[in-house]
Amino acid sequence: MEDFAWFLVFVGRPNAGKSSLISRLTSAKPVIGKKPGSTRRINTYKITKKFEVVDVPGWGKIHDRTQAYENRIKDQIVEFFETYKFQIPACILVIDAKSIIDVSERLSKKGIIPIDQELYAFLKDNKLIPIVAINKIDKIGEVEVERAVEYIKKLIDFENLPEEYQEAVITVSAKQGTNLDVLRDLIRKHLRNNDVEEFERYIKLR
Ligand code: GDP
Repeated sequence: MEDFAWFLVFVGRPNAGKSSLISRLTSAKPVIGKKPGSTRRINTYKITKKFEVVDVPGWGKIHDRTQAYENRIKDQIVEFFETYKFQIPACILVIDAKSIIDVSERLSKKGIIPIDQELYAFLKDNKLIPIVAINKIDKIGEVEVERAVEYIKKLIDFENLPEEYQEAVITVSAKQGTNLDVLRDLIRKHLRNNDVEEFERYIKLR
């Protein structure tokens, strides 16, 4: 039998900045800036015997791939969360602030549910409280950051969320380090709330 481990999960579309955040906040050494869509596997990094960081690529359209392939990826992700949800004390949904506005508004107009919205709802249905890290805020101006935040809040029905969910929506820049201390503290708090505070010390800025 496999040894029992707890999982700190970073989920989000390819290129959102999951690997960058993982390497800023943990001792894991993921490859940063892989070609989007090239690696759609769930990647696991062992921090200790009992604590692992998991990079989950999110689902959605994959360039040059069939619908059947996309569905298989989605099934794997759904299965991962359904199998391990009780072993996930903290889960960070990483969203690229710059691309969310371009991509999602176009999709909503066509009546397609944006992937990040679907992911958020899925995590919440599984009783996880997703920490939403709206990343790459260094790439856009203040007004656009505001727009991205408002847009994401609309997607996740922020106004009607319980307080602990509202607290977990933040803007960050993995590149410049903006608000990474806030993200670190939130992750630590989620670890404490799930009675695994012994792992708090592995979450620190690098
Ligand atoms: P992943 O596919 O979600 O793991 O994303 P990566 O961490 O590999 O990042 C994708 C690309 O975005 C890389 O070229 C990163 O250097 C870049 N990137 C990640 N975070 C930021 C950020 O906060 N600001 C900027 N400007 N670029 C970022």
